[in-house]
Amino acid sequence: MQNSVISYPRIGALRELKFGVEKYFKGLSSKEELFSLAKTLRKTHFQTQKEAGIDYISCNDFSFYDNILDNANIFGVVAKRYKNLNLDPLDEYFAQARGYQGDKGDVKALAMKKWFNTNYHYLVPECDDISLIKLNAEKILNEYKEAKDLGIEAKVVVSGLFTFYKLINFINDTDKKEALTKLKSAYKELLNELNKAGVKWLQFDEPYLVYDLSSSDISLFNDIYKDLLHNKAGLKILLQTYFGDVRDIYDYLLKLDFDAIGLDFLEGKESLNLLKKGFDDKKILFAGVLNGKNIYKNNYKKTVSLLKEIQKYAKNLVINTSCSLLHSPYTIKNESKLDAKFLDYLSFAQEKLLELKDLKEILSSSDIENHPSYKINIELFSRENNRKNEAVSARIASLKDSDYVRKPAFKEREKIQKQLLSLPLLPTTTIGSFPQSADVRSNRLAFKQQKISATQYTEFNQTKIKECIKFQEEIGLDVLVHGEFERNDMVEYFGESLDGFLFTQNGWVQSYGTRCVKPPIIWADVSRSKPMTVSWSKFAQEQTNKLMKGMLTGPVTILNWSFPREDISTKESTLQIALAIRDEVLDLEKAGIKIIQIDEAALREKLPLRKSDWHSEYLNWAIPAFNLVHSGVKPETQIHTHMCYSEFSDIIKEIDAMDADVISFEASRSNLELLDTLKANNFQTEVGPGVYDIHSPRVPSVDELKNTIRAILEKLPKEQVWINPDCGLKTRGEKEVIQSLKNMSEATAQIRKEL
Ligand code: GLN
Ligand code: ZN
Repeated sequence: MQNSVISYPRIGALRELKFGVEKYFKGLSSKEELFSLAKTLRKTHFQTQKEAGIDYISCNDFSFYDNILDNANIFGVVAKRYKNLNLDPLDEYFAQARGYQGDKGDVKALAMKKWFNTNYHYLVPECDDISLIKLNAEKILNEYKEAKDLGIEAKVVVSGLFTFYKLINFINDTDKKEALTKLKSAYKELLNELNKAGVKWLQFDEPYLVYDLSSSDISLFNDIYKDLLHNKAGLKILLQTYFGDVRDIYDYLLKLDFDAIGLDFLEGKESLNLLKKGFDDKKILFAGVLNGKNIYKNNYKKTVSLLKEIQKYAKNLVINTSCSLLHSPYTIKNESKLDAKFLDYLSFAQEKLLELKDLKEILSSSDIENHPSYKINIELFSRENNRKNEAVSARIASLKDSDYVRKPAFKEREKIQKQLLSLPLLPTTTIGSFPQSADVRSNRLAFKQQKISATQYTEFNQTKIKECIKFQEEIGLDVLVHGEFERNDMVEYFGESLDGFLFTQNGWVQSYGTRCVKPPIIWADVSRSKPMTVSWSKFAQEQTNKLMKGMLTGPVTILNWSFPREDISTKESTLQIALAIRDEVLDLEKAGIKIIQIDEAALREKLPLRKSDWHSEYLNWAIPAFNLVHSGVKPETQIHTHMCYSEFSDIIKEIDAMDADVISFEASRSNLELLDTLKANNFQTEVGPGVYDIHSPRVPSVDELKNTIRAILEKLPKEQVWINPDCGLKTRGEKEVIQSLKNMSEATAQIRKEL
């Protein structure tokens, strides 16, 4: 029995790579310093895995920014605009990642997209010149050699050609067929080079296989691999999949000449059934049974019985992670504030290595029940750990269908609200947060470090709120916000105020490039012991005669941006959070807040990869969870929601079924087409398609904004439209925000006159 890791995180236990790369960006360190930092990190990561007794350790899983970007550079899929800059390779690489503005030119960065169902983002390779496609295996061979020098025979990890090809954005009239031919040769060349260098194992990552595949996808895959595998010579090839099962292509995988196949038995709910159809005894099965995405310890009893079942069908078995450990934080060793009673249950990347080691030993043992690690694990999972809150379960059990339905129906509420709120046509508002300037952050820090009192902390924020309101009044916005100065983050703030969450000091996970996030951990049943936002919103409303929006984060977003529990379902956890937020909504209403926004910024994030699972596995409970949050309010209370993207054409009915009164979303970049879809589907909810992009410091002019508003009004009835930026203003500078909002208000005023 052997074990394996699909890939290891590279950012460093204390985010050393992030800081090193950012230092280089700022011109504060040299290339040599950066390369040497990278080498040290790789060495640490190789050694950590070696010491933990991992049999298949990956190389080429390091990256300065993103491994799809690395793959694009290895195979010469680089847009001409970067080549034209004539930079040295590292700077050309970073120019693709972040754009370049300097003496050599001015080019924008590659687009960035969400990596499957994770919160990691990859750079979308662009191909506009196939003559550039050519192998440069230097990075791969270098990492292989580094591992070898440490006595490790590493497997080389490369993005499989099928997935890679599917992710490339071919520009204009680039000949895709010709590009594929050239890519195939480059991949063959890679096999050659690896053989020459004495590499034994090559892992092709093919996560795209877990999507619903069309018959042309299947032929493309077959075509690529029949050809490639012909050229493998002595090299052994592992076809690695993750994030789901490969039901559409399993039979073909068996027929192809792969030496090993990696399946995900956690997210791949059909994987075991596929295996039962048969496996090829000449192949090795890399069985993904250790969760690479979550932070809870593995339940050995469950995993051992799963592995025993798998063993019935596959003779040659390697115990594997379910996906790359890139999606896990590093180690619990740097968590000094979490109590041992919690730490006992946690396992980050480094601890997962030890679990792989345990599982390998346990499975090979003749007396499993008495294996020491097995016994410790059994004890852990049978321990009483107080995660259950009877009052919460009782409340969920007593929910009736009618609790998920807001009354009266939208059209009737709309009438009541229009009369009562007496807003002008095209009401203007913002999404909630105002710039978190340095003074706001240092006030929070000082409070956390107990350098100032709670009163001082609150008074400072109240001054900020007053200023923020004054500004909004001056420029004539219609629905005001308090500015969210008390919030570090829209999920963490609620996590910290609710019972049931844990927080780490260093549980960082790479989100993109040098950006990492530190998701809260849902540990126990979630409940609300006291109001979380009411005093701030009430204070803000008291400062103005205009309408003040109460601001909340919705349950699905809180769940999607946290590490979920494994002992109860996500649905159950989400309902618990929904009930807590529901209580907050009702308290805000009681405090006199007439408009309440419940952000579902990340609703789309965990939409299953296969369309056939969208409803049964997700939307059927996610949408009702949102309904539950606001179904208890009076007809005159206006409920808003906000989403951080505009791709919801395909779930438009479900979004309407959230039954909010107003929804704002991102539409400023191009997605005005979505408005056609809204119209075609007779979308009821009032909409605020963001009129400018807050992700850039650029200030839109009055004329530009007027054009955008006109374009919106061409598609939607004026009574249905709200005017707002496309997201919160937290990350922006004060100066540009002031000017942009002034222009937005002015543009709206001018358009109103035309109507
Ligand atoms: N209300 C939040 C804010 O303005 C929403 C942020 C978001 O959608 N990401 O910051
Ligand atoms: Zn947003």
